[in-house]
Amino acid sequence: MAETFVVVGGDAAGMSAASKARREDPDLEIVALEKGEWVSYAACGMPYYVKGEVESLGDLVQVTPETFRTERDIDLRTNHEVVAIDPEAKTVTVSADGEEYDQPYDHLLIGTGAHAIEPPFAGMDLDGVFTIHSLDEADAVEDFVDEAEPETGAIVGGGYVGIEMAEALAGRGVDVHLYEMLPHVLQPFGESVAEVVEEHLRDQDVNLHLDTAVEGFSGDGAVEAVELEGASEPADVVIVGVGVAPNAELAEVAGIEVGETGAIATDEYGRTNYDDVYAAGDCAEATNVVTGEPDHVPLALTANRAGRAIGQTVTGDPTPVGEIAGTAIVKAFDLGAARTGVVDEDAAREAGFDPVSVEIDAPSRAHYYPGAEELSIKLVADRESGRLLGGSVVGREGVKRIDTVATALHAGMTVGEVEYLDLAYAPPFSPTWDPIATAAKVLAGKLEG
Ligand SMILES: Cc1cc2nc3c(=O)[nH]c(=O)nc-3n(C[C@H](O)[C@H](O)[C@H](O)COP(=O)(O)OP(=O)(O)OC[C@H]3O[C@@H](n4cnc5c(N)ncnc54)[C@H](O)[C@@H]3O)c2cc1C
Repeated sequence: MAETFVVVGGDAAGMSAASKARREDPDLEIVALEKGEWVSYAACGMPYYVKGEVESLGDLVQVTPETFRTERDIDLRTNHEVVAIDPEAKTVTVSADGEEYDQPYDHLLIGTGAHAIEPPFAGMDLDGVFTIHSLDEADAVEDFVDEAEPETGAIVGGGYVGIEMAEALAGRGVDVHLYEMLPHVLQPFGESVAEVVEEHLRDQDVNLHLDTAVEGFSGDGAVEAVELEGASEPADVVIVGVGVAPNAELAEVAGIEVGETGAIATDEYGRTNYDDVYAAGDCAEATNVVTGEPDHVPLALTANRAGRAIGQTVTGDPTPVGEIAGTAIVKAFDLGAARTGVVDEDAAREAGFDPVSVEIDAPSRAHYYPGAEELSIKLVADRESGRLLGGSVVGREGVKRIDTVATALHAGMTVGEVEYLDLAYAPPFSPTWDPIATAAKVLAGKLEG
């Protein structure tokens, strides 16, 4: 009899696993359980939908439910929520249409994602106050901006979602105020990137309120103001983007181990403490390639990659899910900012390294070629071994050079090795020495003392 592979969660992790398993094994029974309506959607595109650059929400769907069902022969059940897991009996309890039933599995993947953190602010339930994590929420924000035509918008949180939403609301003609309780935006990108981004946000008429903790919202039915300590600032629409937390509770109550990060603990194959139960994506930990420690960085490629690997593993070909470097990139109006690995010196020391870093500015193209923009690059290395630990890039073009740094981290390269990489050069694309190689050259000099 064919084995059954059950996936919980119908987005990046879950559907990547289901699709890969189907390609590898035409006989496997594959059941995908999704509590909502949408599957295989690009949450990452939501800010651009609100901004108006993506025409319809449907454009964010990569593969339709029909395609999964007909062309991929996956038993996809939308509006089916898994409410319990019994890893001993190897069943999940599913709630659908007001009824519950038990679904047996031979292999189970938990791909339940994460949820937007909702701080215990007064006024979270006022009209015009949103978090943005699901397509339905993006739709609600878009509708609200269309109908209420807000003049002043407040973004709470200066992470990448907050910054993308600042751009989205500004693009809709809203006067944007961004509130961040820390001294800088984009904390995981480091101060050097944050300062460049902050200057650019101000140039774009975003009102930045750093070191400013929001305490709640007020209004009569609909939001009218953001409440700060001793002050009240007007706002007709609010986006709360203060981070996400893994949906790990379903697993935890079933006795599936959760790590210190709060996400589900997994091994190199994405396996939990139960042999036949895997976890991937925003709900799961992954191993940091620099520190070797479990980490939780909820990003799309991590979910897709791990899902795909697990889909292959359950068909009898064990495939590691891959380590993570926390590589991330964000657009802030005309600027790009990117980071990978360990960028913060204190974090490097905590991980047992002796960090040495450099920050350089270099042109994105040959200095004489039209359109060259300045790139600011930071690289961090370990003094003793010379091993590269991380880096960041910020500028108006060529920021995806961060991938060179990320690749070097995965290869465990030293700064000297990065300096002598054979990287592509022609005047319209780069100076002769690529800015990453230049930064490595300067850092190598510093390491030599
Ligand atoms: C606004 C925004 C912008 C983003 N931009 C980027 C970006 O630019 N780059 C990047 O790398 N990442 C970005 N991300 C993050 C990226 O979207 C996630 O990392 C990715 O979607 C994770 O995929 P996942 O499958 O693990 O989880 P999810 O996409 O959250 O999917 C989990 C699914 O599980 C379902 N589910 C949960 N519990 C149950 C249950 N009990 N039973 C059945 N179904 C259940 C949920 O309904 C959901 O559909 C962004 C996220 C947001 C919100």
